[in-house]
Amino acid sequence: MADDVNRQILLASRPDGAPIAANFRQVETPVPVPGDGEAVYQTIYMSLDPYMRGRMNDGESYAEPVAIDGVMGGGSVGRVVKSNDPGLAEGDYVLGYGGWQEFAMMKGKHLKKLDPAAAPISTALSVLGMPGMTAYTGLLRIGEPKEGETVVVAAASGPVGGTVGQIAKLKGCRVIGIAGTDEKCDYVKNELGFDDCLNHRRDDLSEALAAACPDGIDVYYENVGGKVFDAVYPLLNYFARIPVCGVITRYNVAETAPGPDRLPGYIADSLTKRFRTQGFIVTDFEDMRPDFERDMSQWVRDGKVRYKEDIVEGIENVPATMIGLLEGKNFGKQLVQAAEDPTR
Ligand code: NDP
Repeated sequence: MADDVNRQILLASRPDGAPIAANFRQVETPVPVPGDGEAVYQTIYMSLDPYMRGRMNDGESYAEPVAIDGVMGGGSVGRVVKSNDPGLAEGDYVLGYGGWQEFAMMKGKHLKKLDPAAAPISTALSVLGMPGMTAYTGLLRIGEPKEGETVVVAAASGPVGGTVGQIAKLKGCRVIGIAGTDEKCDYVKNELGFDDCLNHRRDDLSEALAAACPDGIDVYYENVGGKVFDAVYPLLNYFARIPVCGVITRYNVAETAPGPDRLPGYIADSLTKRFRTQGFIVTDFEDMRPDFERDMSQWVRDGKVRYKEDIVEGIENVPATMIGLLEGKNFGKQLVQAAEDPTR
C-alpha cells in the first residue's frame, strides 16, 4: 500500500434485501491533511458490526443512513500519522469512528487514546468497546439477572452474546447459549463456560431448549428474533425480562414476516406473566460507562471474561466479510485488518 493513497470503501447503492458486492465500491483518494485541532490516523483494525446493515438503508432508524458514495462509517483503531491536536502525537494509538478506509481524519477530541500496554488495541472494538458495553448495560440494567435464574442468549459466540453469557455466569445464573454451528456451540460451552449451547439449525430446537431450561427462562437477551424467539417464548417465566438488543434475522428483510399476528397474544401474556420487553441502544446507558470500564477490564485481565476475534486481512475484503457477517459466517468479533499491528 502506498503511504499517500487512501483506499476507501463507499456505499455505491442501497441493498435490496441482503447486501451484495455491487452495493459497494472501492476508490483511492489522497491521504487527508489535518487542519487545526485535527489528526489523521492509519487504520489498523476496522470493526464490522450487524448495525451497519441498517445504515445502508434510507429509512427511519436510530442511526443516520450512509449517503450514496459516502464512506461506510464504523469504529476503527489505528496509529496517528499526523496531528495538529496538542493532545495527540504521531505514533499514538487511537479509537475513532473512521469507517471503512485506510486513513481517517477527525478532530482530536473525537479520538480516544489507547494504551497498548493495558490491553490489545483490537479489544477497543470488541470486549472492551462497544459490543462489550452493549452486553454489560443491556444485561445488567434491563435483564437484572439474579443468582439461580436462567438466562438465554443467541449469537452466543459473538462479542455481544458471548459476553452476556459470561457476565450472567459471574452473577450466578444458569446460562444457555444458542449459536449457528456445532463448532460455535462447543466453544461457547467449553471455552466461555456456558452451561449448555444449542445449534439453532436443529429441527427440535424448541424441545431441546425446553429440556435445557427445566425451570423456564428468566432473562432472554434478544439478539436475533425469528425461530429462536419462537422457541423461547413459551418458556418465559413470570416476571421475565427481555432486553431487545438486536433482531438480526430481520436486518435483510423489508416486509413483515408472514404468519398469524401474535401481537395481541403477546400483549395479553405480558400482562398475565408480567414479563417486560425493553429495546435499547448502547448509547442509552452512558451513565454505566465508568462501571463497565472498571469491571470489564478487570474481568478480562483475570480471565473471567474471554473473547474471540475473527480477523480478515485487507480492506478489499470488507464487503464480502460484511455480507458473511449477516449470514453468520464470522466466528467471534469480526475485524478487518488494514495495516500491520506493531503492538502484537
Ligand atoms: P455477532 O458477531 O454475533 O454476529 C452476528 C451473529 O448473528 C452471526 O455470527 C450469527 O451467529 C447470528 N446470525 C446471523 N444471521 C442470523 C440468522 N438469520 N438467524 C440467527 N442468527 C443469525 O454480532 P454482535 O455480537 O456484534 O451483535 C449481536 C447482536 O447485537 C446483533 O443483533 C446486533 O445488531 C446487536 N447489537 C445491538 C446494539 C445496540 O445498541 N442495541 C449494539 C451492538 C450490537 P450464529 O452463527 O451463532 O447464528
